[in-house]
Amino acid sequence: KMHNTWQELKGNIRVFCRMRPTIPSEQQRDGAVQAHFHGEYQDRMDLTEQVVTSNLTGKRSTKVHQFHFDRAFGPSASQEECFEEISQLVQSALDGYHVCIFAYGQTGSGKTYTMQGPSQPRQQWGMIPRAVHQIYDVTTQLADRGWHYTMHGQFLEIYNETIHDLLGNAADYGKIKHDIRHEKNGNTIVTDLTSVHLDSPTKVKMMLHKASQNRATGATLLNERSSRSHSVFILRLTGHNPKTNERTSGVLNLIDLAGSERLALSGSTGDRLTETKAINKSLSCLGDVIHALANNKEGTYIPYRNSKLTYLLQNSLGGNSKTLMFVNISPLTDHIGETLCSLRFASKVN
Ligand code: ADP
Ligand code: MG
Repeated sequence: KMHNTWQELKGNIRVFCRMRPTIPSEQQRDGAVQAHFHGEYQDRMDLTEQVVTSNLTGKRSTKVHQFHFDRAFGPSASQEECFEEISQLVQSALDGYHVCIFAYGQTGSGKTYTMQGPSQPRQQWGMIPRAVHQIYDVTTQLADRGWHYTMHGQFLEIYNETIHDLLGNAADYGKIKHDIRHEKNGNTIVTDLTSVHLDSPTKVKMMLHKASQNRATGATLLNERSSRSHSVFILRLTGHNPKTNERTSGVLNLIDLAGSERLALSGSTGDRLTETKAINKSLSCLGDVIHALANNKEGTYIPYRNSKLTYLLQNSLGGNSKTLMFVNISPLTDHIGETLCSLRFASKVN
């Protein structure tokens, strides 16, 4: 039994938890935490932590942490099951809504797997290729009813509070300054950012390939670049029906966030310190914005301007828009500290 999550519940913000399975290389090394996924709406998770109660004797006891989400996906949940919940949001974007889907979690928790996934086999496709596929399917059907849709894609990375175009020339990477402009009609423009007309699934494949090549180029400049930056895939969907003269204009933003692992400021210096501050600031700012929106009272101040990411997404967060956050967590006992941090972040925005 499931909620029809987006239609039956009030509010436009949802938080899903997803625990990835252990991968073969991990199985002998680290034990998996005990997690129990349950609830009438598959929305609860109990996590059992082993706590050392005596340093002297090493005596341990267990502590059970209980969490409540809109949905909680256990390690065996497939990409298809996760997408079932997302597909309503993709439909909303086609209907003219602004939609944001985030993946939050420590490095290695499954964010990129969830959003992008391997390109083979098809069952393992993540949310981005599935969303694109659904859009082609639905718009093909809508064409029979007189609707013409056009889809434009942009792909950018926010690193150290600076925007980089992932679809530009590799040689220009890091050389062009991009500004964010909000127009009166609710559109957001990033200056000099490449926009690709996605008129066929092949174009989408080429675009995703180019973005991953550009990300790899960035990585040679700095290790583990992808875990230290936010990647934002923006799909703009405009529809027009010449018979009825109806128009829609929606946006689907898919965001693979920088790793949320707590980064100690002490001990970091130079570039690493700047980087660490930028990540901490933008993730906590995102939490503040979502928290303010979730507790929406008339006239609440929403601190969009405190980070590049929230400022960029200002017109897709709040108002009439829909937001979903996946909180990705690792199953390993070694990671339980970070896992609990992520889950607390999630309950704050929930
Ligand atoms: P992140 O992007 O958060 O750093 P990844 O998505 O790269 O994490 O996932 C870390 C590892 O776990 C990768 O090897 C990935 O293939 C694997 N993985 C993550 N989620 C799943 C899943 N649901 N099923 C199978 N393997 C997964
Ligand atoms: Mg990743």
